Amino acid sequence: MAILNIVKEGDPTLRKVCRPVTEITPRIIQLLDDMQETLIDSNGAGLAAPQVGILRRIAVVDMEDGIVELINPEIIETEGEQEELEGCLSVPDVWGITHRPAKVTVRAMNRNGEIFTVTGEDLDARCFCHEIDHLDGHLFTDKAIRILTPDEVAE
Ligand code: ZN
Repeated sequence: MAILNIVKEGDPTLRKVCRPVTEITPRIIQLLDDMQETLIDSNGAGLAAPQVGILRRIAVVDMEDGIVELINPEIIETEGEQEELEGCLSVPDVWGITHRPAKVTVRAMNRNGEIFTVTGEDLDARCFCHEIDHLDGHLFTDKAIRILTPDEVAE
């Protein structure tokens, strides 16, 4: 396993649309392992493959009972709404309020090639939306209703 370098805003990789995974190869397994390790090391809530320079539809999200790996994730159901604080490992020291669904169900593939669904609320729901946005080249700063001022961040 290895800790990968996280690319920052301004890197063109973050603005590209990622390609679906068509086959689970040893390279994909390695990437999933490395992304998990990188997520833990960076203390983030989630990490998408383009953030480590790989244009594939893969994300890892740190949920309450462990990290969930999402390959080719799609949002299939949403419920309610929330306006909460969001940040991003690729946009350091910037925080903003986003408008997201309160509850999100995602369908994805796991590393065994099996399709599963997972539902997240609150932070997990924001994280699912945020990571899937990354796979389409969107950053949370594009959607933020408001970006916090440096004074607000300091508090
Ligand atoms: Zn992010």
